Amino acid sequence: MINRDRLVQEFLELVAIDSPSGDEDAIAEELVRRLEAIGVEASQDAHGNVLGRRPGVGEPILLSAHMDTVEPGRGIQPVFDGPDIIRSDGTTILGADNKAGCAVILEVIRSANEDAAETRPIEVAISRGEEIGLVGASNMDYSRISARVALVVDSGGPPSSIQGQAPYHFTYSIAVHGRAAHAGVEPEKGVPAITIAAEAVLGMPQGRIDFETTGNVGTIHGGLVRNAVPEECLIEGELRSMEFEKVDALVSRARAHVDEVRERHPDARIDADFHMGYPGYKLEPGDPAADLIFGVLGGLGLTPDPHPVGGGTDGNVFRGHGISSVVIGRGGYNQHTKDEYLVIPEMLQCAAVLEAAVRRTG
Ligand SMILES: [Zn+2]
Repeated sequence: MINRDRLVQEFLELVAIDSPSGDEDAIAEELVRRLEAIGVEASQDAHGNVLGRRPGVGEPILLSAHMDTVEPGRGIQPVFDGPDIIRSDGTTILGADNKAGCAVILEVIRSANEDAAETRPIEVAISRGEEIGLVGASNMDYSRISARVALVVDSGGPPSSIQGQAPYHFTYSIAVHGRAAHAGVEPEKGVPAITIAAEAVLGMPQGRIDFETTGNVGTIHGGLVRNAVPEECLIEGELRSMEFEKVDALVSRARAHVDEVRERHPDARIDADFHMGYPGYKLEPGDPAADLIFGVLGGLGLTPDPHPVGGGTDGNVFRGHGISSVVIGRGGYNQHTKDEYLVIPEMLQCAAVLEAAVRRTG
């Protein structure tokens, strides 16, 4: 049975281990130790993600969370606010995003052991570097994951709060290679990379294109010194839409614009690289993760509350690797702020949802 005190205690212990993105070694080692202690064969992959497997019956299921937190996330001092709420002391985040997810996964396995319950084979993937761009999930060793369906415990709110739709995400980089020359002595011999890059930037789709489509030029780097015609300039940007056709059309428009700039500046070389960072999705009946979560929530008398999100999660990356994923709430609020707090009954409810899911062996 899910044990409230044990779950809360584990959460507090995990929060006590600092793990801002890029500094996850200690938490990763601790998670491996804790998984092994409850019968999960676990280790880190080459990138430092924690992967594990516990045998069972039927189709495997992947339970996932991430181990890193945002800053300020060092020396976190959790404080009880009444019996049901845990906050930070106001000087840091709490780290329920996503230590609550890690604690829930451990408790569900512990409970299955205790009850000698029949479960599906449980695979565990706890990523690092999620908060800095899904880096862990993008570099995960997928040869060690056989599950085709995943519950990703990493949303705010109660477990009925599920991410029902997430955008397709394209990234691009445009490198302009011009020619350097002394700016005062012989500028006519130069090919000014920054100026050409500026023409490229102005034609890229940016801002809110429509209610479900956005674009952004995020960085520009170029030039070395004030008095030289700049030889190099690099632009990085992104395009997102809930609809693949829309983001695909924007990519075509952006490419066509780069071609135009290229034609106007035959002396420059422009290398443009567009690629899909992760695929979007919509939870619809027939999708294995949707069917699983809707079935489990219904069985527990909970009404699913799917909502669209503008950002990607590890769930998007998993889908890119053929693992149907749904991201569910684990009782956290005000994530990424010093006001972050955790509602214990909702974390417990999240554990109940995971427990029901892994015990659906038929
Ligand atoms: Zn998170």
